[in-house]
Amino acid sequence: MLSVQDLHKSFGDHHVLKGVDFSLDKGKVLVIIGPSGSGKTTVLRSLNLLEMPDKGSLKIGDANVLFGKRLSKKAVKQIRQKSAMVFQGYNLFPHRTVLENVIEGPVQVQKIDKQEAIQKAKELLEKVGLREHIDKYPHQLSGGQQQRVGIARALAIEPDLLLFDEPTSALDPELVGEVLKVIKALANEGWTMIIVTHELKFAEEVADEVLFMDQGTVIEKGQPSGLFHQPEHERTKQFLSRIR
Ligand code: ADP
Repeated sequence: MLSVQDLHKSFGDHHVLKGVDFSLDKGKVLVIIGPSGSGKTTVLRSLNLLEMPDKGSLKIGDANVLFGKRLSKKAVKQIRQKSAMVFQGYNLFPHRTVLENVIEGPVQVQKIDKQEAIQKAKELLEKVGLREHIDKYPHQLSGGQQQRVGIARALAIEPDLLLFDEPTSALDPELVGEVLKVIKALANEGWTMIIVTHELKFAEEVADEVLFMDQGTVIEKGQPSGLFHQPEHERTKQFLSRIR
């Protein structure tokens, strides 16, 4: 359902993505690992065009874009609505309640009936264990709870693809588990997901495939059992031994 080919991105004269290729089947979980600065976040942000790649192509479901020339508004919109991002820093609206944060996308962007959106949001908040907090504001919640709101908000727009950008790296260690548990449950439900994370144990449990990036390229891709335990490339070995 997803195909990325020859993705390039520069910021000024810094060539950050140097021809990234990968694909992912529906219902599968891809985890991207690699050293800081290797381009993982830029790849993720390119998938919903928060960053505009300079070159390459992207296909998500029935939406296609070829980078390097001006894209039509329609093509950009089609690609953007395929995925939803869960950010490292939650990115919730601080002056809106939990419920209001979750219905924002469906009501404002997708023009779904408000009552219908509220009903759905309540179900999603129940699913992430926050039903009793729906009228609170983000600052009244722990980081783990805020991130679970972030996940409910992403689910609310019913994307084909969920993107997680280091979803637990801003959390205190004791709050990491509750967020990873929700993400694992989504994987078991069959959501198609791409997760950038440094949580290797979690990555091994949740991933169908793992992609190791370094300096803007994909060095190695494979199943977690192979990549984590018998990596083929020296750079993958070095990275894993440093992080473990
Ligand atoms: P990772 O997620 O692997 O840590 P990133 O994709 O965040 O890597 O960043 C890759 C490189 O691109 C880094 O050197 C970073 O400083 C640079 N970079 C990322 N975003 C921008 C930006 N908006 N402007 C300039 N440089 C950026």
